[in-house]
Amino acid sequence: MYCGLNRYMGLYEGASYASMLGVQSKLRIAGLIWNKISQPRHIFIVWLAVQGRLLTKDRLQRMNIPVDTITCSLCDAQAVETQYHLFSVCDWTKRLVTTMAQWTGVQIPSGDVKQVLNRIRRRHWKQLYKEIIAALWGSIVYYVWQARNWKLYRGTVQGHYCDYRYNNYTDQTKFLC
Ligand SMILES: [Zn+2]
Repeated sequence: MYCGLNRYMGLYEGASYASMLGVQSKLRIAGLIWNKISQPRHIFIVWLAVQGRLLTKDRLQRMNIPVDTITCSLCDAQAVETQYHLFSVCDWTKRLVTTMAQWTGVQIPSGDVKQVLNRIRRRHWKQLYKEIIAALWGSIVYYVWQARNWKLYRGTVQGHYCDYRYNNYTDQTKFLC
């Protein structure tokens, strides 16, 4: 079941929560990745992305795993699907980030997955607010990766949405994708 999920999500097969726990403390941004707000599945994808371990098409090709086409599945730019392209320059992702920014009133810093978290870390914000923004970024990363997998393996990204929840009790925002 776990391996099946890994295959479906295009995850690095050798990754595990245990191995993630073993090295998380070495990263300055670990506190933002492993925040109190994000869902575990979002944290897992962000953690793999920070380490460059998501099985993007360029990585599959480097591992000599055949891919039909090397280009990004989400946009029409005919750009090579790298992790940097998917999360930083892809028009599809940019539109999602813009929509989320308009929706929440929060401007997500630009950059790749790790750079964004480092930029959030360096902002003069309260820790809880940093964690909320990091959780928002984590939900975007997760949703982009999920949409990419749906487009690649099912031919559509329809049927998926981000369910916005606002928790009055803890005054925190959650995005359940
Ligand atoms: Zn793209």
